[in-house]
Amino acid sequence: MNNRVKIFDTTLRDGEQSPGASMNVEEKIMVARALAKLGVDVIEAGFAYSSPGDFDAVRRIAHEVDGPIICSLARAKAEDIDAAHEALKGAPRVRIHTFISTSDIHLKHQFKLTRDEAKKRAVEMVKRARSYVDDVEFSPMDASRSEAAYLYEVIEAVIDAGASTVNIPDTVGYALPDTFGALIKGIKENVRNINKAVISVHCHNDLGLATANSIAAVVNGARQVECTINGIGERAGNASLEEVVMILAVRKDVLGFETSINTKEIFPASRLVSGITGISVQPNKAIVGDNAFAHESGIHQDGLLKDKDTYEIMRPESVGISRSTLVLGKHSGRHAFKARLHDLGYEITGDDLDKAFERFKKVADKKKEVFDEDIEAIVQDEILRLDMPERFKLISLNVQSGTETQPSASVVIEADGVTLKESVSGDGPVDAAFKAIAKLTGATSKLLKYSVNAITGGTDAQGEVTVRLSEHGHIVLGQGSHTDIIVASAKAYINALNRLEFKKKVKREGLV
Ligand code: MN
Repeated sequence: MNNRVKIFDTTLRDGEQSPGASMNVEEKIMVARALAKLGVDVIEAGFAYSSPGDFDAVRRIAHEVDGPIICSLARAKAEDIDAAHEALKGAPRVRIHTFISTSDIHLKHQFKLTRDEAKKRAVEMVKRARSYVDDVEFSPMDASRSEAAYLYEVIEAVIDAGASTVNIPDTVGYALPDTFGALIKGIKENVRNINKAVISVHCHNDLGLATANSIAAVVNGARQVECTINGIGERAGNASLEEVVMILAVRKDVLGFETSINTKEIFPASRLVSGITGISVQPNKAIVGDNAFAHESGIHQDGLLKDKDTYEIMRPESVGISRSTLVLGKHSGRHAFKARLHDLGYEITGDDLDKAFERFKKVADKKKEVFDEDIEAIVQDEILRLDMPERFKLISLNVQSGTETQPSASVVIEADGVTLKESVSGDGPVDAAFKAIAKLTGATSKLLKYSVNAITGGTDAQGEVTVRLSEHGHIVLGQGSHTDIIVASAKAYINALNRLEFKKKVKREGLV
């Protein structure tokens, strides 16, 4: 039996449904390129009918990102299927993924359809999608709460109508590994034409079982797993790509399956997605959490020093986390800096490298040791934001704060080349700085989120600040890092305002 498991990544569709995780088109393309480098089989790039932004993202990713099949989601409605086709047409490798619910609870209360009507609609829409593309996936939504006999009937009918992948979702995260595995086995044994399609699964993590259910499904015959980077997604999220892939890799001895994933790209992809969405990874997260390879116990450390196999079931290097012993600091040269960038997955050359190195030297002057996280923050600041014009620039910032002082901030910025200055008091130094910046830039946006992370240990760490702003339906994320968290905050706020300006400009001039 075929032992190759396809990885269908839905970070850009289900992942983007995480509360607060909206990405713009440029950011989605950057994530799609990282997914292609990772080696996923299919990228679900969005839901073309749902918004002009999603339509553009699907269209541009389908045309610009080489390698994986690019897929658009579509409800079982003609207008959705047509929009998916419009976005995908002309691109080399495409798929339309359509769905309708098959559980009585959904059909009765949400869709107001009988079972026969739902089946008929599924068949019609799969045929419509097949009239446009050869590769059609169908999902019976809420499959894990659907009656098995009816589910088999629907699956058989959509395969006859031309679906080559049938995806079994545990939409509400209700299944258990045994019951979900049995469901997949039942489909394999009872659906007459099942050999003409690939069985896929899409598990949610409401009970923390998304990964376990996905693996149980594979063991019972599924050959595609839908998942997301860092497990982001609707509610408690989806099965996490890195967990599914590393379970199959590390326990190949028992399971015997293969994927096409280049596991060394897992960590860079994880960092990229958390950086762009602003959704940070919990420290104890399997595979990609900060502590996933940290050994605290003295007994464990002793064992590791003698032989890594004592307490490590996989090497951090195998998922792209470099464990170099070389400490970068102010005496490190360009060559060492470039080598470390390479370890972290960044291929940076020419002017970009000069710029990043210059910034590295400044960071190294302030800190004794420059860690990998510091370098990633430099790349995020100096390289990834490059093509966005900066209407506002922070020139200087001075704050007063303390137990006996009214907090205040004096801020100098450059706006469209003109230098402006403002001093304002506030509830604290960050509040004062933000008020001054808002006054100088005329910002009317609402602050949705403000968070500070010390991205390296110690009180001399760089602080990374993330802010999320909204204005007239545009939601943007801004980031700034600095050893002074007030400066990092001001940079994050100005970064977000520049992104907002860029979004408004793009909308006005129709650049995307
Ligand atoms: Mn989902």
